Amino acid sequence: MPTPTRYDAIVIGTGQAGPSLAVRLASSGRKTAVIERKRFGGTCVNVGCIPTKTLVASARAIHMARRGEEFGFSTGGPVTVDFNRVKARKDAVVRQSTEGVEKWLRNTSNVTVYEGHGRFESPHTVRVNDELLEAEQIFVNAGARAVVPDMPGINEVPYLTNVGMMSLDTLPEHLIVVGGSYIGLEFAQMYRRFGSRVTVIEMGDRLIAREDEDISRTLQGILEAEGISFRLKASCTTLRRTTTGVAVGVDCTKGAPEIEGSHILIAVGRRPNTDDLGLNAAGVATDPRGFITVDDHCRTSVPGVWAVGECNGRGAFTHTAYNDFEIVAEAFLDNGSRSLSDRIPCYALYTDPPVGRVGMTNAEARASGRRVLVGYRAMTAVGRAREMSETNGFMRVLVDADTEHILGAAIFGAGGDEIVHSLIDIAYAKVPYTVISRAVHIHPTISELIPTLLQDLKPLD
Ligand SMILES: Cc1cc2nc3c(=O)[nH]c(=O)nc-3n(C[C@H](O)[C@H](O)[C@H](O)COP(=O)(O)OP(=O)(O)OC[C@H]3O[C@@H](n4cnc5c(N)ncnc54)[C@H](O)[C@@H]3O)c2cc1C
Repeated sequence: MPTPTRYDAIVIGTGQAGPSLAVRLASSGRKTAVIERKRFGGTCVNVGCIPTKTLVASARAIHMARRGEEFGFSTGGPVTVDFNRVKARKDAVVRQSTEGVEKWLRNTSNVTVYEGHGRFESPHTVRVNDELLEAEQIFVNAGARAVVPDMPGINEVPYLTNVGMMSLDTLPEHLIVVGGSYIGLEFAQMYRRFGSRVTVIEMGDRLIAREDEDISRTLQGILEAEGISFRLKASCTTLRRTTTGVAVGVDCTKGAPEIEGSHILIAVGRRPNTDDLGLNAAGVATDPRGFITVDDHCRTSVPGVWAVGECNGRGAFTHTAYNDFEIVAEAFLDNGSRSLSDRIPCYALYTDPPVGRVGMTNAEARASGRRVLVGYRAMTAVGRAREMSETNGFMRVLVDADTEHILGAAIFGAGGDEIVHSLIDIAYAKVPYTVISRAVHIHPTISELIPTLLQDLKPLD
């Protein structure tokens, strides 16, 4: 048996927690190995947030140019899209980020970078390529990938996931998106704006079922107005290759039994990258869906082994993965006490307009048994939104009638992904909503209506 190479710490995966952890560990004098099997920076940087938000920005610029007449200018003909240039812009933004992560790691003293697949051989040894590494502390940041459901015909058609979408260099004539949730809807809207025909197929009876019904309904209306077709209550029964692309057999109560398209995107959920990590050899426990079980500080069932980011099932976002790094760094290096249970859920859906969310939905607030007050404002009643001709959507804030604390909010409208932060901060501050309702906000902004709507709270029925 060759002697393993000894490190103080090993980090498997360079997603949103791993690189920061590796640099903190190395800076504290620990000899640290970092293992990455694909591209530095993981999902967010290469095939997730950064490329999609770059494409969303191109799609919005194109959309706004098409609305020129509304704003008093004309483009002298139809707006045409050069998809290769859209992709080149996205690739440049991604390259800068991924190269930045790689350089950061390679230039940090005490960090050794290994390119290859890391797999546990025992609780404290990991094999990468032909080398066996050993460390007292091992941090798993293996992330997640798209679920590909076992539909009949799936292996006969050239389907795409979020990964394949990033290397498309011709615009799909007709993109079929299977999955009407966060990832699917962002792709649907941007490709429609680039010029594709787009059909979204969703099994449920509404889009983004985790949100309240009025958000699903309003967003569907906005996307339909842009020309996106929807097939709800559709169980995708078959996939078939055709001469021009793919055909999806949908078992629907009405409408055509089959939809033909040139490309198909599968966006029905994510699964953790834990099936090929050798977790059994290490004795690391997982839940039935394969997520690594962790305590409130990201410790796994094996002492010295930690799991951070999406692979621990405690968050599916870049900001939650990064917060896992902060929690672990504090627990392991700084003797601090930050924990997963301190975290208030927040995220955004980056359609245009976006939905900025924090805390509970209406449905969750009702189910909590609390006495709940709600403040609501349609974007049509917001001066700044009218000035910008961005009157789609609404703002809603939920307040606990007894504690006066913010329970949740949905800011669905222009700038919603930014505006929601005042509510996120007040929720973290654990102070009554009156701190905001009595604040003076800048005019004219969309945010100035948050105090106003909080001055007019009504019981949630
Ligand atoms: C299309 C899309 C859009 C998204 N948009 C947003 C958004 O706008 N905002 C947001 O907050 N989140 C967004 N997300 C989610 C976000 O990208 C992820 O939650 C985040 O990247 C998770 O980070 P992570 O650190 O857990 O893992 P990842 O970023 O997935 O990184 C894991 C890394 O580990 C490597 N790895 C895995 N197994 C091994 C192994 N055995 N050996 C070596 N290396 C290994 C992988 O190659 C990868 O580089 C989006 C996701 C997608 C798919």
